[in-house]
Amino acid sequence: MGDMRKPIPLATPTMHGDELKFVQEAFDRNWIAPLGFNCDGLEKEMCDYLYKDLDKECHALSLVSCTSALHLAVKLAGVKRGDIVLCSDMTFAATVNPVSYEGGVQVYVDSEEETWNMDPVALEKAFQKYPEAKVVVLAHLYGTPSKMDEILEVCERHNAILIEDAAEALSATYHGRQCGTFGKYNAISFNGNKIITTSGGGMLLTESKEDRDKAFFWATQSREPAPWYQHEEIGYNYRMSNVVAGIGRGQLLHLDEHRDLKEKIYRRYEEGLKGLPVKMNPYLKDTKPNFWLSCMIIDEGCEVDPMTVINKLAEDKIDSRPIWKPMHMQPIFKDNDFISVGEKSVGEDVFSRGLCLPSDIKMTEEEQERVISVIKSCFEV
Ligand SMILES: *Cc1c(COP(=O)(O)O)cnc(C)c1O
Repeated sequence: MGDMRKPIPLATPTMHGDELKFVQEAFDRNWIAPLGFNCDGLEKEMCDYLYKDLDKECHALSLVSCTSALHLAVKLAGVKRGDIVLCSDMTFAATVNPVSYEGGVQVYVDSEEETWNMDPVALEKAFQKYPEAKVVVLAHLYGTPSKMDEILEVCERHNAILIEDAAEALSATYHGRQCGTFGKYNAISFNGNKIITTSGGGMLLTESKEDRDKAFFWATQSREPAPWYQHEEIGYNYRMSNVVAGIGRGQLLHLDEHRDLKEKIYRRYEEGLKGLPVKMNPYLKDTKPNFWLSCMIIDEGCEVDPMTVINKLAEDKIDSRPIWKPMHMQPIFKDNDFISVGEKSVGEDVFSRGLCLPSDIKMTEEEQERVISVIKSCFEV
């Protein structure tokens, strides 16, 4: 009978039909190329969404991915071969790989326990050890805003440029301000598993028109203004297609709705898992996460291991996943320095006890009950 059960995915795209109208227009006007009215529209609408309550300029650039946006951000920040860049440790590798594209060297900064994001105290410690560091790359894990006041204070005191990776945190707010507006350079993702998607894509956001123009130049093969192809710098093909930008415009109309559904899922887990030796992923009370992925962490001292729960869920065709493995534990970064405050790394601890739960907004209450009951069964003795 177990085999008749419907699989429950971690997070998949949710389309509404509005996307097709914008895509249809691209077809009708035979505008099937990078650049175009949907890219322009998506950039403007994203600025309106993120910066509407801010008295700041917004210049956005739609790109093939968030990874490419982060790469251009690292270039704009001036990272050169051998430069130290202070980076979030517990994140997805795409946050930090672009530093390597430019020859920079990541120093990883441990998480704190209240949001699982970069610990501002560890960041200060990293600056003490590497006073020459001029760039910080910060991610908001699972859609939970970082301790931005403290992070910004440390960055300002050390004159460092902040690059904000808001790939997972679109529509999350910190003291009412949208994630993706705090950095000098900000990156968001429209990858298929994110809160809204274009099937694949990303965006760079900055307050500087000049920087946006420079990023545009690099993203379009660094073509100099000349009648022939003239090049003075290495370029990239990073522009988003006008077709997929249409998907993004349709999705953006549903972003707040997606966020509210994500929160409902989190609340149901919170309620349903009460009484078990587990906690949900934490956030600061005066912030509003987007609850992109609901996660749980098993209490210290409890015998149950995350992989046991993950395997048990998989037997029931339920997709869950370990916490993103911290970068300082990755073989590729074994020679990179890691700065943590206590004896024990918070990131390692969360990785050893946590897991990500199905958070697809199309999951029904009954399906989520199924997930919760399998989790409960793992803790029965
Ligand atoms: C998904 C993700 C990225 C990469 O986004 P793409 O659009 O797939 O390149 C970067 N950082 C974080 C934290 C992510 O979760």
